[in-house]
Amino acid sequence: MAYTGFLSALRSGRKLHISRGRCRSTVASTKRREEKEQQLEGCTLVEAVPVELISQTHKDAIAPENQIHIDFDNTQEAYKSKGNMELLRSLLVFKLCAVDVLVEKNKELMELSKRLLGQRMFERLMKMTFYGQFVAGEDHNSIKPLIEKNRAFGVGAVLDYSVEEDLTQEEAEKKEMDSCVSEAEKESPDADHREKKYKAHRQFGDRRGGVISARTYFYADEAKCDNQMETFINCIKASGGASADGFSAIKMTALGRPQFLLQFSEVLVKWRRFFNFLAALQGKSEMMVLEQKLELDQLKENLIKLGVGSKDDIENWFNGEKLGLSGTIDLLDWNSLINDTTKISNLLMVPNLETGQLEPLLNRFTAEEERQMKRMLQRVDILANYALDNGVRLMVDAEQTYFQPAISRLTLEMQRKFNREKPVIFNTYQCYLKEAYDNVTVDVELSRREGWYFGAKLVRGAYMYQERARAKEIGYEDPINPDYEATNRMYHKCLEYVLEEIEHSRTANVMVATHNEDTVKFTLEKMNKMGLSPTENKVYFGQLLGMCDQISFPLGQAGFPVYKYVPYGPVNEVIPYLSRRAQENRGFMKGSQRERSLLWKELTRRVLCGQIFYKPVY
Ligand SMILES: Cc1cc2nc3c(=O)[nH]c(=O)nc-3n(C[C@H](O)[C@H](O)[C@H](O)COP(=O)(O)OP(=O)(O)OC[C@H]3O[C@@H](n4cnc5c(N)ncnc54)[C@H](O)[C@@H]3O)c2cc1C
Repeated sequence: MAYTGFLSALRSGRKLHISRGRCRSTVASTKRREEKEQQLEGCTLVEAVPVELISQTHKDAIAPENQIHIDFDNTQEAYKSKGNMELLRSLLVFKLCAVDVLVEKNKELMELSKRLLGQRMFERLMKMTFYGQFVAGEDHNSIKPLIEKNRAFGVGAVLDYSVEEDLTQEEAEKKEMDSCVSEAEKESPDADHREKKYKAHRQFGDRRGGVISARTYFYADEAKCDNQMETFINCIKASGGASADGFSAIKMTALGRPQFLLQFSEVLVKWRRFFNFLAALQGKSEMMVLEQKLELDQLKENLIKLGVGSKDDIENWFNGEKLGLSGTIDLLDWNSLINDTTKISNLLMVPNLETGQLEPLLNRFTAEEERQMKRMLQRVDILANYALDNGVRLMVDAEQTYFQPAISRLTLEMQRKFNREKPVIFNTYQCYLKEAYDNVTVDVELSRREGWYFGAKLVRGAYMYQERARAKEIGYEDPINPDYEATNRMYHKCLEYVLEEIEHSRTANVMVATHNEDTVKFTLEKMNKMGLSPTENKVYFGQLLGMCDQISFPLGQAGFPVYKYVPYGPVNEVIPYLSRRAQENRGFMKGSQRERSLLWKELTRRVLCGQIFYKPVY
């Protein structure tokens, strides 16, 4: 039979290895649910009739007179923390961003100004304009006054060291190919069965192209990854020192050779497909992943028919002692992943639907590759421990879809370890992805069953243009929603799901990371209906420094936990970041037009009220 190989692997000594990387089986805690369920990666098994998982009633809705309404047009409140010079600077910067040629040629213009003005004058010019608007300062010390001022007005900080290497496109492509292609692939490029989506392609090697907001790291060597880890540690320490409820953000691509993220992503996706195949056997392939509750008895029967083990084997596989106290089989054990004795390449096995065999993703990994994979995980673990010790919550940023399954899964493994008593680790979900809702719901469900704190940052997504161009040219399905409206619907649907989970259990936490005023209003409305007070600290808001102050400050002053991503770094080294800020604030964008008109309104108001020398008091 087709799955004999799969079965024999399961039955043999390889069984546990196989399961670890990619299968998960859970049984719902009896305390929480009457149902007895089991879940494999992206695929739920259920014996009882499913019960309603989330309360749809809003019995605790806040009485209308006590509901919190924020007037995002009240410029006096929004810009209370800003002097007139700061308002003028914002207006100037946003106005410059409206000039197409300046935005398109911004890097060349900055280079030219540096040559004409000299370094010192150039730095002064930048500090009076773009750098002053979007970057907090050069280092931990110089950013302190700004952070303290923002905090005095109710707005916290997520420190984000924004230095980027200024590589040429060729250099970036070379680095990417060197770090994403394994030794085995280099030796015999045609011998592997890798999927093209999860392989590096030179023409998309410069991952900086077509990206909004996000910073890009290129792998150089292990020492550089260690340096980047040190930088993240410094951010965590500074966040911990600065407040009792700090956040810090990290990017996995900064912490190791990206080859591992590509390979691990491919493995996870292939296993997901295998479980979809099992769901299809029960006629459930068209359902949402969370709805794909496989009948356990039927599944067992299917596996037996397919030759995947004897009845006893299969009973044992699903019901044995492995279920443990929480009713969860821990198949990808974080502790063992980072343990020196675990060979990670052993986990990179994939089921072949045609042969029924479990196959290694690559024929060979060098000892150095093995060490590099391990070090990446160890660095992440070190950061998580620092975060825990310093009382800081760690947000793992989302990146490109060919890395993201691995990033998200490794983050989830950290959540299982570190989010036992409070939410320490936050995963990021990109709602421009067609699969966003499936990703959110499956992870929430898992947290619910396993009893850890779900923590999420919801974003729309920063890599849309790049993702679309890559999918089209390389030849795989576009992972992005068909249009902006679909992304908006997806964002609100995911957010609603997490909010309902908060209503249900008060263990989930979410950061609504957006500059979109409608989404912020949508969240406030839902919180009012749910009776969720901002002081419960379950819903946070996030914007970038220098953008959408008319959203962040009124929220902060009304008592909502709101955070700015605060970039910092020396002027010359944050130029790539500034370049992206210019792109995102282009005049034709709805948000930036609104911001300009509000800034203008407030300046006019101050002049008319005789507040020409207005100074924020705090
Ligand atoms: C605090 C913070 C943290 C962030 N962290 C991350 C992160 O970890 N990873 C990450 O990827 N991004 C991250 N971002 C960036 C984010 O994903 C968005 O790119 C950015 O915030 C713009 O989206 P918006 O919701 O603010 O605004 P909007 O202007 O409402 O939305 C713009 C976004 O909508 C989507 N969109 C636009 N046109 C279309 C279309 N035709 N079809 C489908 N979708 C479309 C795109 O995602 C685009 O970026 C972060 C943003 C913030 C504020």
